Amino acid sequence: MSDIVCPACSAVNRVPDEKPAAAAKCGKCQAALFDGHPVAVDARAFGKHLSRNSIPVVVDFWAEWCGPCKMMAPEFQKAAQALEPAVRFAKLDTEAAQAEAAAHGIRSIPTMILFRNGREVARQSGAMPAGQIVQWVREVMRG
Ligand code: ZN
Repeated sequence: MSDIVCPACSAVNRVPDEKPAAAAKCGKCQAALFDGHPVAVDARAFGKHLSRNSIPVVVDFWAEWCGPCKMMAPEFQKAAQALEPAVRFAKLDTEAAQAEAAAHGIRSIPTMILFRNGREVARQSGAMPAGQIVQWVREVMRG
C-alpha cells in the first residue's frame, strides 16, 4: 500500500500496490491522484504532502518575479509526467509561503528539494531541463 495525498483536497488515500496509481482517483473528491502536472501547494498542503505521502516528493520553490523559475516550469512539468506515479511533484510559491521557504533555508530560486517521509534527502539550485531533473531524481532515489 502507498499513501498518496490528493492534489485537489489533500485527503490521504491508501492505494493498493497492485492497483495502478496513475489511474487512481481520490476517495474523497474523486480527483485523479496523478494528472501529469505538479501540484501547486500552499503552506498547509505543503506540510501535508511532505508528511503524509509515502512516495518521494520533489518541491520546486519558485516565485512569480523569477525569470529562470518561469523558464523551468514546463521542464518541471515534463519531469512530473516522466516520473509519476513513483514521485509526487509540487510547486511552492515562496512569496505566498515565506515562512516555509525560510524554514528550509531557501536562498536562491528556483531550488528543488527532494523529500522522503518529510525529510530532505537532496536539493538542487538553479533551473534545469527536464532530462536533468529526471536524472537527478532517479540518482537520488537509487542512492
Ligand atoms: Zn481529493
